Amino acid sequence: MPDFTAHEHPVLAVACPTCRAKAGAWCRRPSGHVASDLHKTRRIEADRLFIEQHGELAAIIRAAPGWLIDPRGRARD
Ligand SMILES: [Zn+2]
Repeated sequence: MPDFTAHEHPVLAVACPTCRAKAGAWCRRPSGHVASDLHKTRRIEADRLFIEQHGELAAIIRAAPGWLIDPRGRARD
């Protein structure tokens, strides 16, 4: 199961379907240069797995020194 709190960005917990960057590695452009943003397909996949793992109401929040899961983080809207 992906660990969304383990990396500098939560989306890095999953591999990228577009550029095939492995979990933990930043996305690459076709040229091989590091992309400025993570691919949309990867963000969608991370979101899907996050909800599957933590539920519809969970959110991920930045906390010092890393990331924490708030199981009811979207319930306050
Ligand atoms: Zn990518």
